[in-house]
Amino acid sequence: MVVDLHTHTTASDGSLSPLELVSRAREKGVTLLSVTDHDTVDAYHELRDVDLPGIQLVPGIELSCQWSGVNIHVLGLGIDPDDAGLTEQLQRQRQRRSERAELIAQRLEKLGIKDCYAGASRLAEGRAIGRPDFARYMVEAGYVYSMNAAFDKYLGAGKAGDVKAVWPELAEVVEWINSAGGIAVLAHPMQYKMTNAKLRRLLDAFCECGGGGLEVANGRPPLVEQRYLRQLCKEYGLEASIGSDFHQPNNWLELGTMISSLGDCTPVWRRWSQAAADATVKNEVIV
Ligand code: AMP
Ligand code: MN
Ligand code: MN
Ligand code: MN
Repeated sequence: MVVDLHTHTTASDGSLSPLELVSRAREKGVTLLSVTDHDTVDAYHELRDVDLPGIQLVPGIELSCQWSGVNIHVLGLGIDPDDAGLTEQLQRQRQRRSERAELIAQRLEKLGIKDCYAGASRLAEGRAIGRPDFARYMVEAGYVYSMNAAFDKYLGAGKAGDVKAVWPELAEVVEWINSAGGIAVLAHPMQYKMTNAKLRRLLDAFCECGGGGLEVANGRPPLVEQRYLRQLCKEYGLEASIGSDFHQPNNWLELGTMISSLGDCTPVWRRWSQAAADATVKNEVIV
């Protein structure tokens, strides 16, 4: 079996439609898949009535929140996408994104980037505006030569466009996930660039408010990082999750291409598939 519990579609900042993503995942041999768009479950509306032989879908989401001045991402896996409380909170998240987009635009305008709200909004094509839309606009308008450069200079952690204050607290989003019947999984713990001590404080807070899982591999991290995250996962009594964080073909890691070893961590997916829990996970580079 091949597990991939972290992927994006056009419902947020991915380039494949939900149906295209699921077909590609099947082609790549993925057998247990979660689509985890940023702050939306819209992909599941499109996937609801589709017959998907050979692939099991676990409804998921990636929620934006803040903790101690850091923008944190929490995956909600196994949620009920129709949960009334969650639906209400996701409407608020959409509003927050739009408020944030206005703040980001104001800050970028001050730095001399013209018409960026209109530009990002056009590129978002009706979806909630994200930082990648600003990055694409800045490339298109010639302010930077790549998305990476846009993040490095203007949008990444600590830069002018990194507006976090609008997001809810970590404990709130964990509560939404638990109330919607899912498990909250701390996404890509190494991306926050925290000291070991701060990451441990984050994990303390995460466990205390009801978090249940840790993403021990986002893509194919170096062995030393894998060992470190597996150790934290066990120490904090969390369940282990893995995902490609796929956004688009070619210049992103392929679907289902994560690490194959969880050590003796408990896989989060035994919640949804006994067969999957019993089988050996074989995530291999297929591209
Ligand atoms: P947002 O959800 O609006 O805060 O935007 C965050 C998203 O930006 C992440 O989920 C990534 O998909 C994307 N991103 C972050 N860093 C980069 C980068 N250096 N180049 C391209 N995209 C990035
Ligand atoms: Mn993204
Ligand atoms: Mn993320
Ligand atoms: Mn992601």
